[in-house]
Amino acid sequence: MPFPIRTCIVCHEEFELKPDKPGFANRCPSCSEPESAEPAEPEERRPLDRAERRAEIEVNAARRRAMRDLLYRKDS
Ligand SMILES: [Zn+2]
Repeated sequence: MPFPIRTCIVCHEEFELKPDKPGFANRCPSCSEPESAEPAEPEERRPLDRAERRAEIEVNAARRRAMRDLLYRKDS
C-alpha cells in the first residue's frame, strides 16, 4: 500500500508520509531533523546597548511630543 504524498512546507519537495515518520506531518524527513541548518540562537536577540536604547527613548519622546501638538491644535 503506497504512502500518501505530501509537499514539504519548508523545501517544497514531495515526500511519502510514512506513519512512523518523526517530526511534522507537513515537513519532509530532512526538514524534520531538529536544528539541522538553523542556528539555535537568533543574532538579533542581543540586548540593546546604551546608545541604541537612548536613541529609541528620544524617538519615542519626539513622537509623543508630535502627537500632543496635534491634539492641542485640534482642540484649539
Ligand atoms: Zn523539506
